Amino acid sequence: MPNESSPKQELLELARQLRRRVELSHESDFLAAPRARHAAEPAAAEACDPFGALAAKVAACRQCPLGSTRLNAVFGVGSPQARVMFIGEGPGFEEDHRGEPFVGKSGQLLDRILESIGLSRRTVYIANVVKCHPMKDPSDPEARANDRPPTPEEMDACRPYLDEQIGLIGPRVIVTLGAVALRALMGPGESITRSRGQWREYQPSGGGASVKLLPTFHPAALLRDPSLKRDVWTDMKNLKKELESAS
Ligand code: SF4
Repeated sequence: MPNESSPKQELLELARQLRRRVELSHESDFLAAPRARHAAEPAAAEACDPFGALAAKVAACRQCPLGSTRLNAVFGVGSPQARVMFIGEGPGFEEDHRGEPFVGKSGQLLDRILESIGLSRRTVYIANVVKCHPMKDPSDPEARANDRPPTPEEMDACRPYLDEQIGLIGPRVIVTLGAVALRALMGPGESITRSRGQWREYQPSGGGASVKLLPTFHPAALLRDPSLKRDVWTDMKNLKKELESAS
């Protein structure tokens, strides 16, 4: 007698094969597809929003000791298409608490300086050489008068982020605010009192075209010594002229 299967047995065999196919397809999805997706997603996100990707890197950074004591990484504020970029030394108490650069008394004065030549923190870009708050006593981020300038090691560690910001924004002019930012960009031998108001050429570390750089005083210096306001006003008029000549 030939070994003929019954319709019921055939149905059972078909169901078994179907189940095996579904299992195999789940296996291949599990093994292959997610790996491809996970590799592609961050690269795609970075390509779509390189500025956001850089900000996310800074938010997660622990490259130097400041990363372990900060309350917030302070990436920067303004337009990624800005024609002028203002660069200070690092976040202070207020900036650390709010995650935005230049928001204390110095920041309010900077806002007024910008307004005086028709700019605002939405049309320029404002950043610092280091993105985390340098503190005299890092164990107490709630203490006032705890700010200090960043060390050369901290500035070196953070420098690639600033270079990348400058590269992505491509400003026509960089204005350094104070001695620390001037020295960070133009070299440790620079003097703010000698260089203030003198147009310089900044050569980005990653290569590319040089950028006009104008050193001026930090707004905090104007709060300590209001007689410096006259010099900064002269610098801002020169900045305005430069931006108008370029438009
Ligand atoms: S200061 Fe710069 S390098 Fe140091 S932890 Fe913060 S983001 Fe990273």
